[in-house]
Amino acid sequence: MLRKKYYQFYANVNYRSCPECLALHGKISHSENSFASCPEDCHFTVVSFTRKELPFHKEQQREMRNAAQNELKRRKLFEQGISLLGEDNEQAISLLAESTRYDLYIPEVERLVEQKSEVLRNDKPLRERLLKLFVQAYSDKFGWRRYERLPELMRIAREQEGISRLREILA
Ligand SMILES: [Zn+2]
Repeated sequence: MLRKKYYQFYANVNYRSCPECLALHGKISHSENSFASCPEDCHFTVVSFTRKELPFHKEQQREMRNAAQNELKRRKLFEQGISLLGEDNEQAISLLAESTRYDLYIPEVERLVEQKSEVLRNDKPLRERLLKLFVQAYSDKFGWRRYERLPELMRIAREQEGISRLREILA
């Protein structure tokens, strides 16, 4: 008798993952072909497993769906925060701070600085507030569970590298 196989889609969830991949993240199917290749060429993995392992993968699915939803929330908050900078800085900072509870990516801060260069150029106190917020958030990020898998020295190096970059672009 042929053993029934299942397949689960694992996206690489970060600021670059496309909406299609985020929508599929964690999805379970009987057919490997139901996961067409990503239109934006993101990196993803399809894992096969047996019926016996289904409960484990369903549990994974719940967490993965949550992670994909959180990434969408993060993006929305971050975008709203960027657009309000220069108009309502208190609200902008509050939204940006909320977005960092989900995650923070240095290239996204680089984008913010580029888009709001006019506003930031003449407002040193604002740059200082943003720097403080992002440095704290970036430092916290490396204490999170998923980064604990990195070897200690590598983690410290990555954290320091990110913080130096933040100081550079928000100086
Ligand atoms: Zn994709």
